[in-house]
Amino acid sequence: MSSLSDFKCDVCVIGKGLLGSAAARHLSEMGVSVLLLGPDEPKVRSDHSGVFGSHYDSGRITRIIDTDLYCAQIAEASISRYAELEKFSGIDFFEPVGHLAVSNLDNYISKIVGTARHLGVDAKSLAASELASRFSYFSFPSGVSGVHEHSTGGHINPRNLIKAQIEMLMKAENEVVNETGSAIERHDGFFRVVTQNGKAIKANKVLLASGVFSERLVDSREKLDLEICESTVVLAELGKEDAERLRGMPSVIFRQEAEYEKGVYLLPPIRYPDGKTYIKIGHSESRPMSDPDANLVKWFQGKGDPVIADWLKSQLFSLLPGVSFTDIKTESCAVSRSPTGRQFIDTIEGSGIHVLLAGNGYSAKSSDELGRIAAHKVISGEVPEEYSDIDFKVKYKRT
Ligand SMILES: Cc1cc2nc3c(=O)[nH]c(=O)nc-3n(C[C@H](O)[C@H](O)[C@H](O)COP(=O)(O)OP(=O)(O)OC[C@H]3O[C@@H](n4cnc5c(N)ncnc54)[C@H](O)[C@@H]3O)c2cc1C
Repeated sequence: MSSLSDFKCDVCVIGKGLLGSAAARHLSEMGVSVLLLGPDEPKVRSDHSGVFGSHYDSGRITRIIDTDLYCAQIAEASISRYAELEKFSGIDFFEPVGHLAVSNLDNYISKIVGTARHLGVDAKSLAASELASRFSYFSFPSGVSGVHEHSTGGHINPRNLIKAQIEMLMKAENEVVNETGSAIERHDGFFRVVTQNGKAIKANKVLLASGVFSERLVDSREKLDLEICESTVVLAELGKEDAERLRGMPSVIFRQEAEYEKGVYLLPPIRYPDGKTYIKIGHSESRPMSDPDANLVKWFQGKGDPVIADWLKSQLFSLLPGVSFTDIKTESCAVSRSPTGRQFIDTIEGSGIHVLLAGNGYSAKSSDELGRIAAHKVISGEVPEEYSDIDFKVKYKRT
């Protein structure tokens, strides 16, 4: 039995991931006391039976260029604050090596060019011949063209971005509790969040940002319309020479018509915590998971889908034909998708719980701005004036 309350705060943010840590920092900067609740990354994934995060990695693509102006604007706002966050936290997380979008779909490329022009992004269109001469290590099929984003594109280290947000939060003397929330109780005028170890947090408001595991803390009558999707990645280890030769390689999104799961993305050589340097390849579209309640933990404990992993390997070998990889491993991850393709930044009907959910597979790069939008919504009841509440409305599965 937990005590009445071990901690007190204005806002308890549940989920120490990319979105939760960003929202917590912005809430703190808006002058309220914040408690950020969430477990640390498990040391060994295969025997961990608790919750997981989608940020257990060293590389996430960051870019403004997008087919969707809304996504591009949110990314732009986030990226514009990276340098400040790095400076004040003392933690680096952004590698501005550039980003390359490549496709044989004219419509896809022209939409990207349109949003890039609209926002004045530092980017250049490249014909197939320019792609080949500028990035001679890549071998793209004929008929493609590209857009190269310069100073604002590249990759971020999601673990370090979270560390930077938490560092700022701690500097402002807020509380971080490394535990998993097991229940949110609503009382008269306040919430009580109970952790798995029986601690209790008394909060005036609660912001739920626990990623793909959020359903566990929401009353089943309020089933959120979130689809949990499986994601498999391949990490291909590079020898010293190839790592040196590919230095400066941009992050890449390659969209091809009529290809399995529609497209792939590539992260350039990144040094991982095991001291090795890997190129990462993953698929852009993810398959919905059947029965996530039963399968999500097992999925995170495993190594992804072997069929998709084989397809990713073949894509990698054909895109970088001159590179010899010294070892290849696969990993699993998961994303949550909303029917709108937008995030849910709203309050759950009837419960008063605020949510910041539905990363939709692209929210790492934009997490700082999404956190700011959510913090604004929690404090004032509305998203900042440059956005519209309707875009972030939570959707429910109605039976
Ligand atoms: C393979 C893969 C590649 C991706 N690539 C990109 C990319 O290149 N660029 C990009 O912008 N985005 C990318 N994304 C998407 C991005 O990683 C997600 O959008 C982002 O992680 C979502 O942030 P989040 O805070 O909602 O969830 P998470 O980052 O998963 O954080 C949720 C946190 O909540 C915690 N939690 C869960 N349950 C509880 C509980 N009961 N109590 C307390 N804490 C709890 C978890 O431990 C976790 O720390 C990728 C995702 C995947 C899976």
